Amino acid sequence: MAYESERGAMVNEQLVPRGIGDKEVLAAFRKVPRHEFVPRSLLKDAYGDYPLPIGEGQTISQPYMVALMTECLGLSGVEKTLEIGTGSGYQTAILAELAKTVYSVERFQGLSETAAEHLNSLGYKNVHLKAGDGTLGWKEFAPYDRILVTAGAPDVPKSLLSQLKENGRLVIPLGSAFSQVLMIVEKKSGKFFYKEMGGCVFVPLVGKEGWEVKDGAG
Ligand code: SAH
Repeated sequence: MAYESERGAMVNEQLVPRGIGDKEVLAAFRKVPRHEFVPRSLLKDAYGDYPLPIGEGQTISQPYMVALMTECLGLSGVEKTLEIGTGSGYQTAILAELAKTVYSVERFQGLSETAAEHLNSLGYKNVHLKAGDGTLGWKEFAPYDRILVTAGAPDVPKSLLSQLKENGRLVIPLGSAFSQVLMIVEKKSGKFFYKEMGGCVFVPLVGKEGWEVKDGAG
């Protein structure tokens, strides 16, 4: 049970002191085995206070950033949630613990497949994954109560705004390709209200309504 104590230390040393206070969010971080989502060669770093490479030039986000984004979503257990940027699937698992259903889109097929294997082997049944351009959302199951984008965008993709429910909430890092501000966007009476949650650094959201495609993945 070595990993259980590492998870406890991650929560107590990285999340709580930085202001993550939601008890359900902290419980999810104590429960979800982050080490199952990192490459075997980086197992000893699984609970470190930093992002890690997961292949295709992408990263599993730093635990604190995953926690902050999750807390910003304000989940109560009933929400249909859309995630853009499945990556390792770790954030997806955290969302699956706290929301009713999670739909998650990843542009790299290989990452989506690996994430699916890990989520299946942990028994998550309320998760639906697909490979594709998430800047266009996932129309088939829209609208969503919550939308989380885990890659940095120049602007909020219009498709995502149109797939957000009334009284819904979208969380997205907005800015340049190198640094962003984490934003909460709320939809009230058909209007969008923006709130800044602080600086962050994410890999770019690449797609039709994001940054230009340069690597031919999708
Ligand atoms: N939540 C993930 C974060 C991965 S990094 C984790 O913690 O593991 C962000 C991910 O967004 C990358 O895997 C990247 O490939 C993906 N991404 C970038 N642009 C995308 C797009 N247009 N549609 C779907 N996924 C995208």
